[in-house]
Amino acid sequence: MINVTAVLHYYLYNVLKDKHNRQSTYLRLAVTDRCNLRCRYCMPEEGIDFAARKELLTYEEIIYLCGVLGELGVNKVRLTGGEPLSRKGLPRLVEGLGHIFPKMAMTTNGILLPPVLDELVGYGLDHYNLSLDTLHEDRFFQITRRDEFGGTWNALEALLERGIKTKINVVVLKGTNDDELGDFVALTKDRKLDVRFIEAMPFNDDDGNHHLYLSHGDMLANIQQRFPDIEPDRGEANSSSVAYRVPGFLGTVGIIPAFSRSLCGSCNRLRLTPKGTMLNCLYSTKGIELLPLLRQGIGRQDLADLITDFVLGKHKDGHETQRLEQSGNIFASMTSIGG
Ligand code: SAM
Ligand code: SF4
Repeated sequence: MINVTAVLHYYLYNVLKDKHNRQSTYLRLAVTDRCNLRCRYCMPEEGIDFAARKELLTYEEIIYLCGVLGELGVNKVRLTGGEPLSRKGLPRLVEGLGHIFPKMAMTTNGILLPPVLDELVGYGLDHYNLSLDTLHEDRFFQITRRDEFGGTWNALEALLERGIKTKINVVVLKGTNDDELGDFVALTKDRKLDVRFIEAMPFNDDDGNHHLYLSHGDMLANIQQRFPDIEPDRGEANSSSVAYRVPGFLGTVGIIPAFSRSLCGSCNRLRLTPKGTMLNCLYSTKGIELLPLLRQGIGRQDLADLITDFVLGKHKDGHETQRLEQSGNIFASMTSIGG
C-alpha cells in the first residue's frame, strides 16, 4: 500500500538538506549510554550518571521518529551507544528499523553479538564495526578495564566465518597501542576486513589522556615503516575515513581524522542520543529535544518540519560547531553522542 504521507513529504521537502547543500541521509542512533566495558578514552570507571529507563526513547518512539526520517530521505542507520547490544530486546528494535531503512549497520564491542548475530542479519543488519584496540589480551584489559578480549575476538571470528562486511575500529593511543598498527594492517592481508585507525578525541572523562593523541599523519608514517608501499585507495562515498590499501592485500586500511576533522565537508550524518536529542555533528552540544515532543504526541508533519529546519542550520564543519556551540574543549562522553 502506498504511504500517502511519505509521498507528500517527498514532494514537499524531498530531502534533508543543510545550508551547505549537503544531504543528511545517515542516522547514527545511540540506543543506550550503558556499556559492559569502560574504555579509558570513553568512560570513567565509576560515578557515571546513566540515564534512567524513563529518560530513554522507547523502541516505539524510535521507530515512529525513524519512520519520519525515512520519509525525509534518510536511508541508512547505524546503531551505536554506549554498547547497543547491552540494551534489552535490541533485536526487536532492529526488526522494526529493518522495515524503514534499506541499510543498517552497528558499531559494537561485539561481546554480546554471537548469540544474536544470525537474527540481526536476518532483519537486514549486515554491516558491523567492531571496536578492538589491541591484539593482546593484557592490553585489552588495560584499555577497557574488563577482561573480555576473548568476547570481542569471538565476535570477529563469527562475523568473518559468515562473510559479513566487517570493519575493525582501533582508537590509537600513543605509547599504548601505537606499536600494533602494523599488526592490524597485517590482518588485512588474507581477510576481507577493513581496519580503521581513529584519532582519539578529548572527552571530560578520558582520564586526561589526550596527550596520547596521534594524528592521521603520524599514524600513516607509523604504518609506512612496516608497509612502505601502502597507497591511497578509493574510499566509499561520504566515508568518515581516508582509505589506503597495501597492494595485494584483500582488506583495506582507513584513518578516521575524528579530531583533525578534515572530512567534514562531505558529512551526511545526523545523530540521535539515547535521551532523544537530535544533533547535527559529533561536536554539537546544541540539539533538539525530541523526547518531550514525542511524548506529547507530535504529528508526523510537525516532526518533519522541525527536523527539516534543524538540518538546514547545520554548521560547515566540526571546527565551526565547536566554536559556536562549546565553551572550551569539553565534550560529554562518546557514549551519549554515539561515536
Ligand atoms: N560500544 C560500542 C563500541 O565501542 O564499538 C559503540 C559505541 S563507541 C562510543 C563507538 C566508537 O567510538 C568506538 O569505535 C570507540 O572506539 C569510539 N570512541 C569512543 N571514545 C572515543 C574517543 N575519545 N576518541 C575517538 N573515538 C572514540
Ligand atoms: Fe563502551 Fe564502546 Fe565506550 Fe568502550 S568505546 S566504553 S565499548 S561505549
